Amino acid sequence: MGGGTELIVICFFLGLSAGVIGKIKGGSFLLWFVIGACTFGIGIMAALLARVERNEPRRACPTCRNVIKLSDQVCMRCGEDLDWPVAEPVEMPATAP
Ligand SMILES: [Zn+2]
Repeated sequence: MGGGTELIVICFFLGLSAGVIGKIKGGSFLLWFVIGACTFGIGIMAALLARVERNEPRRACPTCRNVIKLSDQVCMRCGEDLDWPVAEPVEMPATAP
């Protein structure tokens, strides 16, 4: 018996950790399990850094009060054309010399 069994066990727990994190973040447990198990822990980091769609900022349409994503340009309910919110200034990344 070599170290193969230990490797499988380590991969399993790495996949389990990534899967749980991915599931908490609203993703697929199975998908993140596979990523975590195949990348030896890198998948856990990826799951932690994954963008959380649920936490995307939202706003209400001024016409029908329908709650939409901040990035949406048009209201899905009434078709109102929405301006990009000007309250938050967008910082442009500094260009390298
Ligand atoms: Zn609307």
